[in-house]
Amino acid sequence: MTPLKSLSIALLLLSVLGCQHTTQTQEIAIPSSATHNTYSPLINASQQSDLAYDIVKSLTVEVGPRIAGSKGDKRAVAWAEAKFAELGFDHIYKEPVRVRNWERGFADAKVIAPYPQNLVITALGGSIATPATGLTADVVMFESIEALRMANRNDIAGKIVFLNTRMQRDKAGRFYGKVVPNRVRGAVEAAKQGARAVIIRSVGTDNSRFAHTGVMRYDETVEKIPAGAISTADADTLEVMIKNAPTVTLQVNMQAKDAGWQTSYNVIGELTGTESPEEVVLISAHLDSWDEGTGALDDGAGVGIVMAAAKHIKDIIGQPKRTIRVVLFAAEEIGLIGAYEYVRANKDSLNKIIVAAESDFGAGPIYRMDTRFATSVRDNANDLYDVLSSLGVALGDNTTNGGPDVSMMPKYGVPVLALKQDGTYYFDYHHTPNDTLDKINIDEIRQNQTVWSVVTAYMANTEFDPRPAPSVE
Ligand SMILES: [Zn+2]
Repeated sequence: MTPLKSLSIALLLLSVLGCQHTTQTQEIAIPSSATHNTYSPLINASQQSDLAYDIVKSLTVEVGPRIAGSKGDKRAVAWAEAKFAELGFDHIYKEPVRVRNWERGFADAKVIAPYPQNLVITALGGSIATPATGLTADVVMFESIEALRMANRNDIAGKIVFLNTRMQRDKAGRFYGKVVPNRVRGAVEAAKQGARAVIIRSVGTDNSRFAHTGVMRYDETVEKIPAGAISTADADTLEVMIKNAPTVTLQVNMQAKDAGWQTSYNVIGELTGTESPEEVVLISAHLDSWDEGTGALDDGAGVGIVMAAAKHIKDIIGQPKRTIRVVLFAAEEIGLIGAYEYVRANKDSLNKIIVAAESDFGAGPIYRMDTRFATSVRDNANDLYDVLSSLGVALGDNTTNGGPDVSMMPKYGVPVLALKQDGTYYFDYHHTPNDTLDKINIDEIRQNQTVWSVVTAYMANTEFDPRPAPSVE
């Protein structure tokens, strides 16, 4: 190792670790060090700040559950406007989003025979109710939705279908996409086969007695039947019963209801750019949550992370050159409703967005950044990638969709990036009563806040322009 190289590495470490800069540091013209020097005060300030965590605490304690269109959702919108003001955003506004409100109501399930006992169940979001006195039928189990589709209708008609697919833990959450069709499509596929109701093994990786809710869909051409999820522990019990006994009879009673149209809002806070205010760096999360927990991981964490990142940039570096726009989307959980409305309402200015990104995978540490940048300029941000590397974040591929609420933007040429979080335990809590503040590790959410601060500051304060996004296949 040459003396110069060892010095530059030592200085790089010093700047990352937050020591005072010496004049020597500025004399050495090494691009990565220069970028480190620019961002180290931001990194240091973030590493000593609880702001993201405090924002999630405020949202979960002062607002709590906030299913789209509910009273909680309305409180969340007012909370977000007030929080943006408190944090010093200079342009705060909201855009209306029409949403269908759904109320969970009472839910109960029990085995009637041969081994009577209660099961923990929750209704899936959007489900119709059972009759007021409940619904009693024999249950038929399938390992997958494909097996249900291929089964003989005579074995299913008049029964309750039980979709029993296990989900595995995974850092990137890859099994979610494989199992979630049970929840979204289960009622339609079961009804096509003549079933009276569907229950699924919760789409979750825990072994608790919390059931995981989440959105389900009907098809207007297929009869609507009630749909619920039982906890993974109860799914295990039911599976053994079905394997042991020729007939298992269940009673399910769920009194969910459609509560009609309501107006929710995408709530937006901006730090107006000083040099190119029309150019926008859009960072986002979703404000709604399911109703059972307090929506701490999904997506209070994202709300805290992106609000805090912008606030740190303003405090430590100052007003950005480009506009930083923090969007808190409405009604993500029931089908990205706020995000689609945002694109519709802002179609003419999407080409001003330099990059868009969303934080919506809990509060686990970020380990990778994927992008969808114009291929010809992607390497021009190598100095950013170097700083990220020092924060434990590797550069990934260039094919991301940026996260749920910005996933429709690349097809309009909007570049996106995704800061991939370790989601190994995310689906233990996802959409359950157990999604609460105590599940957030303060050091991990702080790492998220730091990485988002650096990436957002870089995109807002440098010349780097990754437009247009490569086209979507
Ligand atoms: Zn979410």
